Amino acid sequence: MACPFCDKVANRDQLTAEEHVWTFPHSVALLGPWQFYAGYCVLIARQHATELSQLSDSARQGYLNEMCLLARAIEAVTHPHKLNYELLGNQVPHLHWHLFPRSADDPDRLRPVWFALERADQDPAERQRLQGRVARLDLSAQLRRQLQTLNAATS
Ligand SMILES: [Zn+2]
Repeated sequence: MACPFCDKVANRDQLTAEEHVWTFPHSVALLGPWQFYAGYCVLIARQHATELSQLSDSARQGYLNEMCLLARAIEAVTHPHKLNYELLGNQVPHLHWHLFPRSADDPDRLRPVWFALERADQDPAERQRLQGRVARLDLSAQLRRQLQTLNAATS
């Protein structure tokens, strides 16, 4: 059965500079579509697995450390009020973290983002609002510069 994230990882050389933030040894960081949450990234494990418990200790530690490095880069670039980390996999069962920076002036700040994103499914205006107005290419470049500053490994 085809896995969309295995495809993304295998064909990452075809990603745009806007979408592809970083290739770590254990994961690939992508700038996500919902940039109302400025700096929102998805961190896809390079190895296909559905649960963290399926990774070897060293692969899991590597993946989690890379998630923290990406979190630091997002924090340095967009200064969120709070960062939300979500590892769900209900829709795409391949390990991927959603890192959602939250802002203090978001009226939904006390709830997970998924309520708002569910509204976006039904409402084109809400969809457009949640896609945000950031300069995506510039944001991606800022995250890359920050990851270089943090000496993030790449491969
Ligand atoms: Zn996969």
